[in-house]
Amino acid sequence: MVNYPLLLKEIEKEIQPLFSKGKVANYIPALSKVDPKQFSMTIQLFDGTSYGVGNQNKAFSIQSISKVFTFTLALKHYGKELYQRVNHEPSGNPFNSLVQLEYENGIPRNPFINAGAIVTTDSLTSIHKDSTFEHILNFIKKTSNDESIVYDNEIFHSEMANGYRNMALINMIKSFNNIHNPIDDVIKTYFKQCSIMMNTQQLAQSMLFLANHGINPLTNEVIITESQAKRINSLMLTCGHYDASGDFAYKVGLPGKSGVGGGIVAVVPQKMAICVYSPQLNSQGNSLIGTKALELFTTKTGLSIF
Ligand code: GLU
Repeated sequence: MVNYPLLLKEIEKEIQPLFSKGKVANYIPALSKVDPKQFSMTIQLFDGTSYGVGNQNKAFSIQSISKVFTFTLALKHYGKELYQRVNHEPSGNPFNSLVQLEYENGIPRNPFINAGAIVTTDSLTSIHKDSTFEHILNFIKKTSNDESIVYDNEIFHSEMANGYRNMALINMIKSFNNIHNPIDDVIKTYFKQCSIMMNTQQLAQSMLFLANHGINPLTNEVIITESQAKRINSLMLTCGHYDASGDFAYKVGLPGKSGVGGGIVAVVPQKMAICVYSPQLNSQGNSLIGTKALELFTTKTGLSIF
């Protein structure tokens, strides 16, 4: 049996030298205001027990981690049909890249890069119209067993005012007829979902259903089918960290998803979910210390999928 409190203390100590090595995201001005020297981590088990280190109550902007929730909702509704609009291959390109989209006719490589997530959000907008964001937020509240989750209005507006690349992406996709709703509605929902604030405890709980064949082990609620849970985990492994997905799989060996807010979630199948937060990013936009902490976790425990 792993001594999790001791393990987390060891990890916290070993990541200290990395605190000057990364950079907080600043292309969304409101994100640049966070204290760069933060680190927290939560390990959430199926029986409700959790272990943590750092300020696990500190909420941060989940950013691209929201793409896991929107993809889950879209896959649940559309099934395989969704893959006609968004592929399931690694992109090998940065999260906000435009080039591939042009020569692949507006079909994003996967739902975890911006282009793919925008299409996924559009697919949900076709179902839920004006209440799409509320639907996404309610789903997140349900999977994390926490009604108190909100989004940050300042981060939302900051991204709206500076989201030139995302506007370019959605316009390009629309030109290929792969956006079916008004672009303003879709992009607003996308930016709002990115500005949802959660802490490591809430995020670790919210990922448990992916570690447990689609069933939330704390409530026994079936969220998605076993086969769909397998697909989402596979995509997190191959596409969850943009053009550093291979590096993350190589170092950590777990399905995971990062966000430029500094969070990373990871799934240990049939065992637990983990969330780590540290806002300094590496050059590919993933939490530098978060990646290292997860690498230390799987190295020290042997708990990877390989
Ligand atoms: N809101 C961010 C963007 O669209 C999400 C990117 C990320 O977390 O990787 O640029």
